[in-house]
Amino acid sequence: MPLRPVLQFPDRRLREVSKPVEAVTDEIRTLAQDMLDVMYDEPGIGLAAPQLGVPLRLVVVDVGWTEEGAEKSPRVLVNPEIVHAEGRVSWTEGCLSVPDFQAEVERAAKVRLRATDLDGKPVEIDAEELEAVCFQHELDHLDGVLFIDRISRLKRSMYVRKRMKQLRQERDEAGPERASEGAGQG
Ligand SMILES: [Zn+2]
Repeated sequence: MPLRPVLQFPDRRLREVSKPVEAVTDEIRTLAQDMLDVMYDEPGIGLAAPQLGVPLRLVVVDVGWTEEGAEKSPRVLVNPEIVHAEGRVSWTEGCLSVPDFQAEVERAAKVRLRATDLDGKPVEIDAEELEAVCFQHELDHLDGVLFIDRISRLKRSMYVRKRMKQLRQERDEAGPERASEGAGQG
């Protein structure tokens, strides 16, 4: 089965507040597997369900998996919540939904996260450094927040302009092709 596409900025669905997962059904398990497949394929170290257009509070992460061939240790987190945060750390972040851009973001250095796993069992994780940053980044997605919302207004507007230009170019390039396809059919 082909992988589900990752929504990209400025897709409005990335701005929705996701709903809690009511019960871990086969559908949720399939979604989690699809999310892992996409994450490892991209590759990325985390993915939230709304990035695939599903507004549910479900994320997958694997911060150890930084190169192809490395051992995978995926975590699937259902209804994750940060229950404690402390310290500050700056990290250069990127996002599969924000193409061609990275920026330094300040976040809590340590977090305690509570969630349930795919068997409905509660999990509690104390995370720091990259893992803490990754959890905060993915949980933001569940509230419709992107990392570019957490950088300076100037940097954000520079990115937004660049992205809009890129989209216009893509549209222009696709334009004549589509036109000729249309002509062929006509
Ligand atoms: Zn992201």
